[in-house]
Amino acid sequence: MEHRDPNIDAKGMLFGRWCIREGVWAITNRWQNFMYLLIGEQRALLIDTGYGEGNLRAVVEGITDKPVTVINTHGHFDHTGGNGWWPRALMARPSAATCRIAFSEEQCRWRDAKPYPDYEIEYVKEGDRIDLGGRQVEVLEIPAHHEGSIALLDRTDRLLFTGDELESGQVLLFVRASGLPIAQVAAAHRANMEKLRARRADYDYLCPAHNGCMLQPDRYLEDFIALDTALAEGRAEAAPTTAGFGFAPEWGEQDTFSAFRPLVRAQAGLASIIYTP
Ligand SMILES: [Zn+2]
Repeated sequence: MEHRDPNIDAKGMLFGRWCIREGVWAITNRWQNFMYLLIGEQRALLIDTGYGEGNLRAVVEGITDKPVTVINTHGHFDHTGGNGWWPRALMARPSAATCRIAFSEEQCRWRDAKPYPDYEIEYVKEGDRIDLGGRQVEVLEIPAHHEGSIALLDRTDRLLFTGDELESGQVLLFVRASGLPIAQVAAAHRANMEKLRARRADYDYLCPAHNGCMLQPDRYLEDFIALDTALAEGRAEAAPTTAGFGFAPEWGEQDTFSAFRPLVRAQAGLASIIYTP
């Protein structure tokens, strides 16, 4: 039987979705990227757009009929690939340099077939507030994993959306557009974690872009601060392998991260960071 719905492939649905709280939805794709849809009285805000496979716009419009604003936590293509379903995307300025760079030829095809491949970019910065009507979302700059990373704070539902800068399982500190020594990146990451800890009274849960949602903030924040400190001071111990979410225990064939090898994982409690030594 022919599948005419672009969101249904031979294996079933391309997207999953679930309601976290009234007006807050998580949408996931087959790579388990988490995108989030926050619905206000006037507008909805879509946080990240995945790799661009299928028709994300149809999924979003199946949830809300409010006009949608797109925002990216940072400029990696697994967060920006579906931007071209809409005419405009918000992001921090450094994300614009990488947001259209697909990781594979297949992703290039998805990108170029969108209705707005040349979507307009509007910059956001620290302290900006996006008013959705009865729901305000604040921008916090937290660049380390990527130069353009932002966290988004929804004080209405007390949720903090952290993109790739704070998640369970791993944070990758070797994928910046411009490489820096790990001690320097870890020091920046620690400053960002301390900044989020200072705002702890404003949220109850973390909503990352990969590897689990929602997360209890305190242990993750404390463990990442401890691990960043050890990395910044050059005393973090390398784990025996990088095995974990998306990483095999042994290096095999070419993969997305081949160019960055050798890679090392360090761990402290719930916090794990993969980096180039
Ligand atoms: Zn990323």
